[in-house]
Amino acid sequence: MRRPVPEGEFDLIRRLFAPLAAGEPGAFGLADDAAVLLDTDFVVTKDLLVGGVHFPKGEPPGRAAKKALRANLSDLAAKGAKPFGYFLGCVWPKGTTAGDIEALAAGLAEDQGAFRLSLLGGDTTLHVDKGGPLTISVTMLGLAPRDGLIRRNGARAGDDVYVSGTIGDAGLGLRAASEAKFLRGTDARAQLLDRYRAPTPRLSLGGALAGVAGAAIDVSDGLVADAGHLASASGVAIDLDAARIPLSAAAAEWRDGEGDPAAAIAYLASAGDDYEILFTAPATRRRSVEMAGQVTKTQITRIGAVRSGAGVRLIGPSGAVIAVERSGYDHFSE
Ligand code: ADP
Ligand code: MG
Repeated sequence: MRRPVPEGEFDLIRRLFAPLAAGEPGAFGLADDAAVLLDTDFVVTKDLLVGGVHFPKGEPPGRAAKKALRANLSDLAAKGAKPFGYFLGCVWPKGTTAGDIEALAAGLAEDQGAFRLSLLGGDTTLHVDKGGPLTISVTMLGLAPRDGLIRRNGARAGDDVYVSGTIGDAGLGLRAASEAKFLRGTDARAQLLDRYRAPTPRLSLGGALAGVAGAAIDVSDGLVADAGHLASASGVAIDLDAARIPLSAAAAEWRDGEGDPAAAIAYLASAGDDYEILFTAPATRRRSVEMAGQVTKTQITRIGAVRSGAGVRLIGPSGAVIAVERSGYDHFSE
């Protein structure tokens, strides 16, 4: 009999893949955003995007390709690394036209210019079965910052917890992409869709945080889930102050229309695809953190604290813990 997968994505990685990486210290036990090639300056990360999972099936290929690059760039940003170049693997749907592939290449060219990186190699194949979706796999190389990579495991009890930008926009953007009626006719709808389709990797902020932040992770699965990954890698607990979580005007407008504000914030804090940087720093570093935000013109908000223990709590304005049903995206638990 075929066995279903009994565990979530991250337990699966820990059980089956982490042992395969045990011989190489630069792989960090598969418990970080990227690996380093020891004795070189290179940092490597990989993200795979599948039509119908990470972007809608009819998405223009150029837009999907940009999202693939940006998801990888976000991992480099969270480590303080600078982009260098990437390898590209594409599996095209049956019936793909030259125009589709040209559109993908044009999207890549645009982002290569924006982020100053070069294609280094890859592989291209075509699905033989009907319905096989466009699949884009990117392996991205970056250069480590001089002060050393910002790891996930450097958070200590007593540290402050910060996040860049705003949280939850992409999750609402996904709703807008899949529900025609969602916030129909509002400016908010267009803004949220844009945040979902074209995330902004926080590369300059990441670079400025090297040597300042104790630990960092990019928020791809969901704020609470990724805080959990950082906490578990560091062996600490994290408390997030729900009222401090930064929201865009569009997301705040959506929250205000919801009946239960605590449930609304829990939703935004677990929606994923934000591609912001969640990081920690000792309280003595507050001025340096502020400077990093100013120099790179990036919004930074202090949203919580690290304490000893394990796990993540989302604390409401009354001091009560807000229940988070599903802290973020897990491909094997959906
Ligand atoms: P991120 O969201 O930062 O890209 P993921 O959540 O995709 O990271 O993965 C978590 C960790 O598990 C990373 O260190 C990643 O390299 C590793 N990982 C995920 N899938 C695999 C796999 N199939 N083989 C090896 N390592 C993997
Ligand atoms: Mg990451």
